[in-house]
Amino acid sequence: MQAYRFALDLTPTQQRAVLAHAGAARVAHNWALARVKAVMDQRAAERTYGITDVELTPAAGWSLPALRKAWNAAKADVAPWWTECSKEAFNTGLDALARALKNWSDSRTGKRVGRRVGFPRFKSRRRSTPSVRFTTGAIRVEPDRRHVVLPRLGRLKLHESARKLARRLEAGTARIVSATVRRDGGRWFVAFCVDVDRRERAPAQPQATVGVDVGVINLAVLSTGELVPNPRHLDGAARRMRRLARRMSRRVGPDRRTGQRPSKRWERARAQLGRAHARVAHLRRDGLHKLTTRLAREYATIVVEDLNVAGMLRNRRLARRIADAGFAELRRQLAYKTGWSGGRLVVADRWYPSSKTCSGCGAVKTKLTLSERTYNCTVCGLTLDRDVNAARNLAALAAEVNTAGSGPVAGRGADRKTRRGGPVAVKRQPGIASASKTGTVPPQGGTSNHMLTKAS
Ligand SMILES: [Zn+2]
Repeated sequence: MQAYRFALDLTPTQQRAVLAHAGAARVAHNWALARVKAVMDQRAAERTYGITDVELTPAAGWSLPALRKAWNAAKADVAPWWTECSKEAFNTGLDALARALKNWSDSRTGKRVGRRVGFPRFKSRRRSTPSVRFTTGAIRVEPDRRHVVLPRLGRLKLHESARKLARRLEAGTARIVSATVRRDGGRWFVAFCVDVDRRERAPAQPQATVGVDVGVINLAVLSTGELVPNPRHLDGAARRMRRLARRMSRRVGPDRRTGQRPSKRWERARAQLGRAHARVAHLRRDGLHKLTTRLAREYATIVVEDLNVAGMLRNRRLARRIADAGFAELRRQLAYKTGWSGGRLVVADRWYPSSKTCSGCGAVKTKLTLSERTYNCTVCGLTLDRDVNAARNLAALAAEVNTAGSGPVAGRGADRKTRRGGPVAVKRQPGIASASKTGTVPPQGGTSNHMLTKAS
């Protein structure tokens, strides 16, 4: 499955039609959520009166078919205008709710890893991103590759050519599963979720291994010595963002207590600020995609560290820089792109001392402050840039996992503390990487260096 996303040029009429569909999705979502909530509250109240479980009000179904059935029975009363929108619009909202409820209940019962998921909340017209997803009906790219056709919305003009997707569709190596129209940073996009038939590929250097040390000063340092600078798009845009935020704060915004409606000028300033943020996000995404595609096409084995990104984001001093660099996204992209190009991604254990180890002789320092930018080995006298040294250590690890099986690559909430001498816990993650393509590194004791003797 792969997503193809294109910017749209919608006419005002088309924008209104999409917004109407997104609004319909929200109405269905909020109606079904209110109903589920009411039944839950009713049952809870009845329990306090000592009513036995069999006599309670029957529980409302949470599955998508159950929600859809209830909606279809009630839509004539709740939304008498329902014929004006595609049924896919209501399905979008109900599907989102069904998944939110499932995530909440799975998280509560411990079936879901990661952070706790709260109970779904009502969607607001002001705060939610307008979006509608089509899964059935006429979804196609027109032969001119400049227009797409969606149910009810009709023929929409694309801002860019859809040739990459069109080529695959014409060759029969792709099948569109769904299409989502959404507004993002003041601009409309359509994203096609596509089932792609990929041919086997091999990386340009089938024997080569590269270690990638990610950081804030340099986005990535490769074991080849190449430095990929961190473009710091957020810093570059900071001045403009501050100015726009200030402009917005001087204009009349909405106030819930006094019922003040936002002024047109405030809305305009808000849109400008939103576009500035979207531009930073787009620049960041573009740079990361180019880097990860290049690495995955070039090298057969890529070794990265398992960074605790969620943990680092909780550090207020680091969070902005780390989020701006996009560490987690870098690794996620490497995981699936190595799968596409026939390479593999190796994730070093979180506690592997890649910075403290000497890439020349394997000696491990007990202390290495962050301010030491060059690694000076007291044992063999090696002097090397700190990050290049770490990247080389990572690359050397790859030799050790040629025999390893599968391992978590982009798993959320994975807890893999090193167990000295024991086998590393291995968890398969279907859909993220195939078993033969990835591996975990054997546990590394704090001082054991036998793994690194092959480092050159
Ligand atoms: Zn050394």
